[in-house]
Amino acid sequence: MEKFIYLDHSATTPTDPRVVEAMLPYWTEVFGNASSLHSAGKAAEAALVQSRQTVAKVLNCHPAGPAEIIFTSGGTESDNLALRGVAHGMRARGRGNHIITTSVEHHAVLDVAKELQTEGFEVTFLPVDEYGRVTAQQVVDALRDETILVSIMYANNEVGTLNPIAEIGAALKKRRIPFHVDAVQAAGLLTLDVKKLNVDLLSLSAHKFYGPKGIGVLYMRRAVTLKPQMVGGGQQAHRRGGTEPVPMIVGLAEALRLAEAEREETVKRLIPLRDNLIERVLTLIPEATLTGHPTERLPGHASFAMRGLNGDSLLLDLNEIGIGASGGSACTTGQQEPSHVLVAMNIDPDCLVGQMRFVLGKHSTQEHVDRLIYHLTALVERHRALVPDIG
Ligand code: PLP
Repeated sequence: MEKFIYLDHSATTPTDPRVVEAMLPYWTEVFGNASSLHSAGKAAEAALVQSRQTVAKVLNCHPAGPAEIIFTSGGTESDNLALRGVAHGMRARGRGNHIITTSVEHHAVLDVAKELQTEGFEVTFLPVDEYGRVTAQQVVDALRDETILVSIMYANNEVGTLNPIAEIGAALKKRRIPFHVDAVQAAGLLTLDVKKLNVDLLSLSAHKFYGPKGIGVLYMRRAVTLKPQMVGGGQQAHRRGGTEPVPMIVGLAEALRLAEAEREETVKRLIPLRDNLIERVLTLIPEATLTGHPTERLPGHASFAMRGLNGDSLLLDLNEIGIGASGGSACTTGQQEPSHVLVAMNIDPDCLVGQMRFVLGKHSTQEHVDRLIYHLTALVERHRALVPDIG
């Protein structure tokens, strides 16, 4: 069998061997607890400090001290901490109860926002256009005197669409409204400079940028009010209790450093590959439409809705051939519900189950795209022939 072709880099990425190498000493040699006073602890603490500086450099934020960089267990925890932390922190200060987000966020934001509603917070879920985007004007129009937080994703995981984060951030900065951005899909592909983006809080997850799974970052500007959600230890300046997983943190920092250093080159290589994939699907497969924005989209991301097809069953056949891709979000695969993202974008109901996402990564090649197109066109024809009354 030929080598498996992995086209699901929005779900996760393989850990870069250079990252694994950087992590190795911190499992067995430098194993101390970063809070311990003895030299084993001090060595671990030094690695923590160094990792924070590396992350701070990529984000262009304050390098000193743990105040701005909070290490978490991943994107889900970072999003949870940002929303709950700010909501509860602001409420404790009597600062209002209104939150703005969008209807196409990852469930790590959406579900927290819905929970906050049950606690008495008011949430505006902004609608999106046909590409899954919101505008800065929409955000400004939704603001109230009681607004305490705006949370908008940088790039959508299902359809790859980018939001105008810097512009939204500029509008919010003038009004001093805290702005959280879920940038989980953006690292290594888009700038993460929090000053250019005008953001106050930003979520990252290492496994999306060739780092280990189970480690993430919440960047938080110093002035933001945040109530810790994980208590029981004074670690990370009391913002997130728990012994820091030093090997994972070292891995995250090295992965982020490499992703940023190689970003320009990666993007330059991925865009033509992506555009070639999109163009060939749209010309060779009848009744296939691109979902998400044609140009304002993640460099390696190609997503489609195909009329009269069951995406999951086609993807299973594609997997048998040795090509791994997914429908929408990896986290919701197996659910029978149509994607909340496609529904919010007003996609034709006949196309909702024909959702497919092919996401290229660092190791993707033209040959991978060619093989995908070859097998996909044949499979679509076969599947449509089985259901002659549709499409
Ligand atoms: N936010 C977005 C946009 C994502 O795509 C994901 C994961 O797919 C997450 C948050 C959750 O990240 P994690 O898997 O690290 O919990």
